[in-house]
Formats: sequence, structure tokens, C-alpha cells
Amino acid sequence: MNVVVQKFGGSSVADVEKVRKVAERVAAASRDGRRVCVVVSAMGKTTDELLALAKRISPSPARRELDMLLTAGERISMALLAMALEDLGVPAVSFTGSQAGILTDEMHASARIVEVRPVRVWEELDRGRVVIVAGFQGVSPRKEVTTLGRGGSDTTAVALAASLGADCEIYSDVDGVYTADPRVVTGPRRLDEISYEEMQELARAGAKVLNAEAVEFAREKGIAIHARATSGSTAETVVRGHAAPGGRVAGVTSQKGLALVEVPWGGLEAALGALSRRGAIPSEVAAHGGRALVVLPLDNVHEWTVARGELVAAVPDAAVDDRDAGSVSVVGARAGAGPGLLLDVVAALREVGEEPRALLAGPLRVTAWCAAARAPDAVRLLHRRLVEEAG
Ligand code: ADP
Ligand code: ASP
Ligand code: MG
Repeated sequence: MNVVVQKFGGSSVADVEKVRKVAERVAAASRDGRRVCVVVSAMGKTTDELLALAKRISPSPARRELDMLLTAGERISMALLAMALEDLGVPAVSFTGSQAGILTDEMHASARIVEVRPVRVWEELDRGRVVIVAGFQGVSPRKEVTTLGRGGSDTTAVALAASLGADCEIYSDVDGVYTADPRVVTGPRRLDEISYEEMQELARAGAKVLNAEAVEFAREKGIAIHARATSGSTAETVVRGHAAPGGRVAGVTSQKGLALVEVPWGGLEAALGALSRRGAIPSEVAAHGGRALVVLPLDNVHEWTVARGELVAAVPDAAVDDRDAGSVSVVGARAGAGPGLLLDVVAALREVGEEPRALLAGPLRVTAWCAAARAPDAVRLLHRRLVEEAG
């Protein structure tokens, strides 16, 4: 019998009614004769609320304790979904990440899955039960509870699918991957298919629809990801295959919540050391002319004020731009076809009144760092020129 991993994100389980709807969907798959393993996220904005609660207790909570707190969010939704399934007459059991055998490294707040040992998941699937696994969490070799970083339930789903030899379906409030965030651009196009590499670049550059590490896992394991909407629609985007050279722009995206750190070349090692001790992992590092630039996404950095203080203590010449730092990116093989796209991005930023603070052009992505507040305007302009007007 074929096995499927179905992942439902926070908006899909935001309230009791939605949990019931998800249960009906899972029950239908189970009655179709599929063995179903479900991965769930925390309900709605629960993770944000738990983080805010922690910040009310302490301005710089320890990452270990934050992980204990945040993992509670997924426990709530997994138990509720199991109850809803039982009420529909579908035998179900819920597991924490640890019980499901999601083994990670020790890096609290952004742990990586190192192995999946789904012994109990198999036992229960073999008994004919639907197995519900809490996303976004695992356990370290020292039996510490860890989280995988924001959006990490996608990674749980892909890792479980790889380990179970299952299909992987990721359900959210959007029926696939679009050429831009439908909340930012009116009428973007849904892509029927996108390569692992392009999807990874989009996700790294801020497109939240799938988690970048989940896509990296899928690529490594050769798993196709089916991105679908929880509500009805039969449309989907399949993430599989490799980026083909050619003229395509796959998508335009923006990112906020960054810090741009500039240090003298000689201070780079000390700066990276100070940052990594607080769990701040750069997305890009570049150096030239005696200066180095470090780009830090702050999503999973829960002690940023402390980290920034320690950075400046370690490297007094460090310049930190963290008040409104963001970026705009264009992703697709066309990025590698010459400097045209880079110049388009610079021109678009200038038209929205921004001078790029830094630029990066690679084979699949052009990124310009700028004020986060201006980035959505630049995305709309670039989407119009590079996607809508390009036909
Ligand atoms: P979930 O909570 O189910 O994990 P997310 O909020 O993480 O869902 O991801 C879905 C959201 O991603 C959509 O609501 C959409 O606004 C956003 N998004 C950003 N970029 C894109 C894109 N290129 N295509 C589709 N959705 C996108
Ligand atoms: N609940 C976690 C978050 O909000 C994980 C996830 O949704 O994938 O980031
Ligand atoms: Mg998500």
C-alpha cells in the first residue's frame, strides 16, 4: 500500500473548524486506501504568540527554553487532529518529533535533521492508524528538544517522506508556487513545475511558501514536493528536476528582517564567532577592498540585541544596519545569462527611490539589499516588467 506524507501549515489548522476540515481531507485519503502520515504546524499565529510571551518574561530567553516553549505549539495541533480523526472513525495517533524519530544536531532554534528513525511511525501505520507528527521539532543526541527554524514543518515532512519512501504533499493557503507572493503582487502566475535549485533560491530570498532547507532535503533525496492548497483546488506546483539553462524568470521576491553587518577584513573571524555563539547564521558573506559584508536573516535569532552588543564588543569597527534592512531578488536561469537582470533590479530600486546597499548576481539569482519598506514596490515593478510584460 502506498504511503503519503501530508503536511498542513499553521493557516490550515488555525481554528477548530479548520482542524475538522483537515481531518476530513486526511480521512478521505485514508479511506482511499493510502497509508497517511500527517505533519502539522502550530495553529495560526501560535508560534509568534509563544515567542512574544517569552519576550515578556525575558528580553533574551535561552534558546533551549525557547525550544521547549515553541514545540508546545505543534503538540496542540497534533493532539487535536488525532481527536478529530478518531471522531470521524479513523484510528489515529499523534507523536512529537522525538517520538517519531526526528534526530537533529544540538543547534537550538535552527537545528538540522541528521537522521530519521521512524520505528514507531511504521508500527502504527502497519496497524492501520493515521500517524500525526508534530512538525518543526526533533531531539538531539543528548535528548534535548530542538526546533528546526521558522517554517521548519516543511522540512519535517520532506525528511519523513524520504525516510518512509512516501509521496510528499505540502498543503497551505495557496495552491502552489507563484511567480510572486500573491499578497504582494496582483495576479501572479502559478508555476506547474519548478526545479529544486530555483525553489531553493526563491525560498532563501524570502518566498515563505516552502522552506529552503526542506527543498534542499528534497533535492538531496530525490523527493518531489507537491505544493497544494488545503481548500479544494486541484491545482498544484511540483518541485522536482534541475534548473535548465534558458531565459526564464521563475519568480520575484522580497525579504525583510535582515541585518547587514560590515566589518574590516581582519575582524571577520571574530565577528562570525560572536554571531554564531548567539545562533546568528549568515545567508551571505562577501569581502573586498579590506571590508567584509555579512548578511544575517534574523528570523531564528532570538537574542539579537545581545548578539549585536557582543559583536560590537568583539569588533568595535563593525557597522550594523538592522533597522529596516531587506532585499529584493529575481530568481531563474535568466540571471546567469548576462548583466541585464542585475541592471533591471538596480533600475527598479532607483525608480522606487532606493539606492542598492549591496548587490549579488549568481547563475540563478540576482539580489539587491535595500530598505525592507521599499522592497514590495520594487517587486511589483520587476514582476510587471520581467513576468507580465515578458508574455
Ligand atoms: P504555512 O503556514 O501553511 O506553512 P506559509 O505562510 O509558510 O504557509 O506559506 C504560504 C504563504 O507563502 C502564502 O500565503 C503566500 O502569501 C506566501 N508566499 C510568498 N511567496 C510566494 C510565492 N512565490 N508563491 C506562493 N506563495 C507565496
Ligand atoms: N510553527 C512553526 C513556525 O511558525 C513551524 C512552521 O510553521 O513550519 O515557524
Ligand atoms: Mg510555512
